[in-house]
Amino acid sequence: MRTLLLSTVLCALSLSAARAENPAEEQKHIAAATAAAGEDFKNTNLWLCKPTKDQLTHLATLRKEMPAKKVFDNFFYFGTGSQNVWALKTNDGIILWDVHANADEAQRLIVDAFKTVGLDPNDIKYIIISHGHGDHYGGAQYFQEHYPKAKLIMSRADYYLADTAPARPNWGGPPKHDMVAEDGQKITVGDTTVQLFITPGHTPGTLSSLIPVKDHGVTRLMALWGGTTAPAQRDGILTQEESLKRFTKVAEDQKIEGWISNHGLWDDAVVKISKMDKAPNGPSPFLQDAATRKRYFDVQNHCLEAALYRLPGATQ
Ligand SMILES: [Zn+2]
Ligand SMILES: [Zn+2]
Repeated sequence: MRTLLLSTVLCALSLSAARAENPAEEQKHIAAATAAAGEDFKNTNLWLCKPTKDQLTHLATLRKEMPAKKVFDNFFYFGTGSQNVWALKTNDGIILWDVHANADEAQRLIVDAFKTVGLDPNDIKYIIISHGHGDHYGGAQYFQEHYPKAKLIMSRADYYLADTAPARPNWGGPPKHDMVAEDGQKITVGDTTVQLFITPGHTPGTLSSLIPVKDHGVTRLMALWGGTTAPAQRDGILTQEESLKRFTKVAEDQKIEGWISNHGLWDDAVVKISKMDKAPNGPSPFLQDAATRKRYFDVQNHCLEAALYRLPGATQ
């Protein structure tokens, strides 16, 4: 009886200790993320790891509409500094990732901008929506209306998420359902194949992609992580950690040479593009060595851990 009572008390104590918020652990992970970030992932780290109000104000100044930019031989950026849209040109058409937040942005920042880099929006074969938040899919109905030959791909879970999201004035409506992405699915256009992975966490059906680009004629595999900020709930954060680990392993096994993102704050696309403008014949700033890719993972992973230790009643 006494043993039972003691073990009950111990169990209750350990449960309450485990479920407490842990600011010391949270700080430890923020410090580790900051150390891993260095200068090149400073913005990623600032945004993901509990930013202060001043930091958020600073990050907001990074948003500005950018001219379209060819970043590899066959890979193009159509962004706003904060929001990234990517297009891959193959010998038989174009694959597009995300469509900005609404019809106006889709028209100006993608369709009109296509012409400035010699692309034709009629050549778009597939539109891959990285996840079901309107800043990524809001321009979809515009494309479905004006470019109906382009097939739209989204995960089943995120079609549902978009269908049930409360309307926002700046976001276009949810896409009409078209193709449903499968985990590991390969999408081939002409001589080029990209691969999609369902990496839940940021949303239940976030899609991440492996994209072979050509850099001065040499094929380089890039990984596009489809969702970065930590979800609000514990289960979502843990799920995102698992997805990040799994997709990183898949990507490294397939010998990626760089990470890109659907938000410029995560991959510093604007800084990299300005480096390209200054040194157009230098090595691509979008390519990262193994140590840099590992730091990118560490920043995200430690920030997710910090988010867990911030939750009321959080455990390890
Ligand atoms: Zn999102
Ligand atoms: Zn977003």
